[in-house]
Amino acid sequence: MHRILASLLLLVSAPAIADNPWGRVRDAHPGIPEVIGGYAAGCLAGAASVPEVGEGYQLMRPSRNRHFGHPRLVHFVERMGAEASRHGWGRVLVGDMAQPRGGPMEYGHRSHQSGLDVDFWFRLLPQGSPPLSREQADEASMVSVVDEPSGSVDPQRWSPRYGELLRLAAERPEVERIFVHPIVKRTLCQNARGEREWLGKVRPYWGHDAHFHVRLACPGDSPRCVAQDPVPEGDGCDEGLERWVEEIRTAALNPKPQRPSPPRAAAAMPGACDAVLAGRPAPSLGVAEPRLRPRGR
Ligand SMILES: [Zn+2]
Repeated sequence: MHRILASLLLLVSAPAIADNPWGRVRDAHPGIPEVIGGYAAGCLAGAASVPEVGEGYQLMRPSRNRHFGHPRLVHFVERMGAEASRHGWGRVLVGDMAQPRGGPMEYGHRSHQSGLDVDFWFRLLPQGSPPLSREQADEASMVSVVDEPSGSVDPQRWSPRYGELLRLAAERPEVERIFVHPIVKRTLCQNARGEREWLGKVRPYWGHDAHFHVRLACPGDSPRCVAQDPVPEGDGCDEGLERWVEEIRTAALNPKPQRPSPPRAAAAMPGACDAVLAGRPAPSLGVAEPRLRPRGR
């Protein structure tokens, strides 16, 4: 029994991909921008990157070299910074985007593969203050804004500005969905005033208690981009969410030893990604591609 548990633990803590060529590529594919495949099994040609510091934003963990994306994503990140600055909310801290050519990462995320995902920290630097040094940006730790035993956000750490930022992002037409911790979602449900349609794009998901994750829809220039099912109708402030928060609260009050979940097999990458990785032109359309359906909420 113990041996089985130990070997499971080994599997879980081992890097997702022992020898990951996608993580070693330092620069973008030179082709025209195209997203190929899905969010959790895909890659990216012609990526753009976000400068380390810009108006109203700063990249975190810049040494990871994960601040690449489809030009639409880069534009979106810069826009979020500019809007936060215009509203006087402070400087937005941008977490991981994608690797230079996308693809699976050695650690940290299952998605973020196709240049359409970006994380934002639940932390803002005060308006007008200088950006963090590169060293600070590389080493700062993420702090949870959620207090699971009480089923609510931690008032010392949560700011209504995060709600404003989430609304701003959700109202952008290019944003497909946003992931937040279920307790964050419930807080947004409780505090939302007026129009509530944007809340439907904000999806409760495990983790995401120290950052939120924005996912853009497939761009028009990428016919091989695999879309996710559309978000369900409504604002998502429902019974199911209440039940989930209650489960989290109960589990936090009665902690049990964590059982490692079995590792998930990596999804198959579209064949055209081999060319992207090698820096060759992506083969033209008409080549049979497996239709991959990303899972998730
Ligand atoms: Zn993310």
